[in-house]
Amino acid sequence: MSEEILIFGHKNPDTDSICSAMVKERLNKKSGNENVKAKRLGEINKETKYILDYLKLDAPQFLESVEEGQEVILVDHNEFSQSAEGIEKAKILEVVDHHRISNFQTSEPLYYTARPYGCTCTILYKEFVEKGLEISKEEAILMASAIMSDTLLLKSPTTTKHDIKALEELEKIAGIDIKAYGLEMLKAGTDLDDFSEEELINLDAKTVEKNGEKIVIAQVNTVSIEDVLKRQEKLEQAINNVISKEGVSLFVLAITDILNSNSELLVLGKKANVAELAFGEKLENNTMFLKGVVSRKKQILPNIDKNM
Ligand code: MG
Ligand code: MG
Ligand code: MG
Repeated sequence: MSEEILIFGHKNPDTDSICSAMVKERLNKKSGNENVKAKRLGEINKETKYILDYLKLDAPQFLESVEEGQEVILVDHNEFSQSAEGIEKAKILEVVDHHRISNFQTSEPLYYTARPYGCTCTILYKEFVEKGLEISKEEAILMASAIMSDTLLLKSPTTTKHDIKALEELEKIAGIDIKAYGLEMLKAGTDLDDFSEEELINLDAKTVEKNGEKIVIAQVNTVSIEDVLKRQEKLEQAINNVISKEGVSLFVLAITDILNSNSELLVLGKKANVAELAFGEKLENNTMFLKGVVSRKKQILPNIDKNM
């Protein structure tokens, strides 16, 4: 067991899960809690790699599982199905998150900061401000990157005035044209060419459970939905493999056009009709186009959940 308090975001880590763990480590150290270490629960994606390369920083170390009694801080998630193996028996000291609270319980009291903002890093930004801690340029870029990633440059309906304000302030500290940088960062994340179909459907996949049924909602960002759909047949094979291996009832792959803010859903599984009910659209060739839909958290998951 690690003597350090481990900080990590969800499996299949996105930029917010990596950046918020790294920033939370720095924040706690600045507040005098030295004994903390950021970790990651999976490979970093290309978008996050762009940021770390830009800042010449190493990614946090990979964490396979946690042992009984391990002290941890969760960022950017709370659902155990998205957390480290063994999380049920870990000692969760704190959660900083911007998702619904589900499938979560602890045996001891804890700090829990839940705010319905567009990004965990916006909550951390506020923590810096509330504690009167100085934000370095590096920390500003880490937080700004996560905010722009989670809100798709403030265009997602998950964006709140708090995210807008935080990004504005962080841009001043960063001292760069943050939106120009952010667009390059997002584009770096849409380069899907060297991923196999298996990898592609797992890059940013979240598993949730409802009434004993397993639902996977995966998302890929792109600048061309058409390009991704050229691989539909192989994507379906990969998805059907996951469905049969892991007993998934509904698998949704959201292919999100980050420039025009639309998504195409590729839907498979015995509960595929739930997607039709959720969005009032018919599946044609297993797909449906959803105008203006970009957010899994706010637009896709709640509708699926309601109709499951
Ligand atoms: Mg996340
Ligand atoms: Mg997030
Ligand atoms: Mg995300």
